Amino acid sequence: MKIITKSSALKDYLINSIRSGQQIGFIPTMGALHEGHLELLKRSREQNAFSVCSIFVNPTQFNNAVDFEKYPKTLEQDAALLKAAQADLLFIPEVEEIYPGGISHLEKFDLGYLETILEGSSRPGHFQGVCQVMQRLLTIVQPHLLFMGQKDYQQCMVVDRLIKIMKSDIQLITVPTVRQEDGLALSSRNRRLTDIGRTKASAIYQVMKFVAETVKPGPLEPVRQSAREKLTDKGFVVDYVEIADARDLRLIADWDGHSPLVCLVAAFLEEVRLIDNLELRMPT
Ligand code: AMP
Repeated sequence: MKIITKSSALKDYLINSIRSGQQIGFIPTMGALHEGHLELLKRSREQNAFSVCSIFVNPTQFNNAVDFEKYPKTLEQDAALLKAAQADLLFIPEVEEIYPGGISHLEKFDLGYLETILEGSSRPGHFQGVCQVMQRLLTIVQPHLLFMGQKDYQQCMVVDRLIKIMKSDIQLITVPTVRQEDGLALSSRNRRLTDIGRTKASAIYQVMKFVAETVKPGPLEPVRQSAREKLTDKGFVVDYVEIADARDLRLIADWDGHSPLVCLVAAFLEEVRLIDNLELRMPT
């Protein structure tokens, strides 16, 4: 596995290493890697001749300075994991490499409704930051396929929109969430939980399953309210429990029984903000 820190070196390397017609798959990450990230790489290796991973903790997508500072950094271990999982190239740029003009006056993207709900409203500026870094990374790597996790459901929709704004033909592949046996979605942030916290955290999955089993056509507030109470009882500080149309994230207050649904949760445990989501089955 080749490790590169400069964009120009990465472009040169790809030009010289890729034979014409060979596909490049790209897996952008912020490091502190786990099996979820490795699943994205596995999918990329199945579908592409060449797989590029990046590790870059993007300062512009953190609306909370403490969260940015506390973001776990485990670079050596990450590189070893990616090498063992047979990534072809690891790109680890410095902040100046991605934002040579600094980060104070960056461009704005028209994300419309998507930016006004859920993670967009709870973390102002977050998705602008995601787009700022993704636009740069996609322009540098120029992949054919981009692999991202369903764990960040809204982020996948935002990046899909970015790809359209860029008028690019990169194809986004959304990979299902990898979970622990107890249902907790793997996340770099789980490392900040105590052992007890990690066990408690699986309640998010249990509550989403409860929503999946309970949801019925009509008003959805009662099931959302029970879900919030269950999480609060377990010691979470709930940011949101929402039910949305799985196709466009339009929040649903009254379900017609036909639109495909996704339940999305954000909640703090031990001051760590965890997010997860689950697509809800249609009634049979
Ligand atoms: P991050 O390093 O947290 O920015 O994540 C990098 C990529 O890995 C994103 O596309 C995430 O959605 C994806 N990812 C994170 N956790 C998981 C998981 N448990 N299962 C599948 N993909 C994941």
